[in-house]
Amino acid sequence: MDYCPSCGKKLYPDLMDGHHVKSCECGYIDWDNWVNISAVSVAYNHLGEFMMVHLKGKNQGKITFPGGFRNLGETLEQAAIRECYEESGHHISHLELYKVYTKDDIRLVWVVFKAKIIGGEFLENSETESISYHTPEKLPELKRLRGSLTEQLLMDLIKESI
Ligand SMILES: [Zn+2]
Repeated sequence: MDYCPSCGKKLYPDLMDGHHVKSCECGYIDWDNWVNISAVSVAYNHLGEFMMVHLKGKNQGKITFPGGFRNLGETLEQAAIRECYEESGHHISHLELYKVYTKDDIRLVWVVFKAKIIGGEFLENSETESISYHTPEKLPELKRLRGSLTEQLLMDLIKESI
């Protein structure tokens, strides 16, 4: 960022508590710590199984939890509900914050909700080819998990069931 989002003046390089930052005369500080927020769901069906989505495109064959980036203006809950619907065709409700995960190397934060599936059916879409349901006793193929946050979340779900 070169200009202050608060007043529009040019930012200057500064040092704050040992961090290289950019400051503005008005007091605004750019800490260069932005992250993208993804709202993710652990969506349970009436059997107590949680949903995972099977990706297509460049992540063909990979499995993860339904979720995606929050749009400006949305609450995180709204983003989780929308993304779950877009990727699975299923409606969720009763969202409860479960955990938050960070992955700084790709500036990503997952805000994970547990939720109930209240209806729907899989709909053709551009991101996923199918969905599947799992429990700690009925896991997906672990080598197909999409990435480290998917692995961490799945491991945390397994751990809490022991
Ligand atoms: Zn300013």
